[in-house]
Amino acid sequence: MLGKLAKELRMLGYDTIYYRGENAYSLMKLAREEGRVILTRSSKLTPKRPEDHVVRIKEDKPSSQLRELIQLKAIRSYEETPFSRCLVCNMLLHEIPKEEVEGEVPDFIFYQQKEFFQCPQCSRIYWQGSHQDHMKKKIEELFGKPTA
Ligand SMILES: [Zn+2]
Repeated sequence: MLGKLAKELRMLGYDTIYYRGENAYSLMKLAREEGRVILTRSSKLTPKRPEDHVVRIKEDKPSSQLRELIQLKAIRSYEETPFSRCLVCNMLLHEIPKEEVEGEVPDFIFYQQKEFFQCPQCSRIYWQGSHQDHMKKKIEELFGKPTA
């Protein structure tokens, strides 16, 4: 139910796992082992130990959930590097030389863009595209302009 939020968090650079299992215990265990905060829409999932961090999202509109996380101070402005992760696998992207993406991306993108990034897991290629412009606007709306 939080799939869109998970993608937006990855766009912001947050290390985000989308848990598809049903088992609350194994979710809690994973979060403990990896020091993760659990974001959930469910009121049934509650912290069992002092180290458990569970944030309950009340908004059901995906477009408002990121704002809710900011209001809850669960995330803060520009603490991670936006657009540094694969939106599908959550892996950190690495830059690849432009000549290596020729034929792998649409021609107009190849000629238009200077920098390309690749996911080491799924090999998806990323560039500064229109979805980034859209997300940059959204980030600025939520956080204000970056100071750096
Ligand atoms: Zn990937």
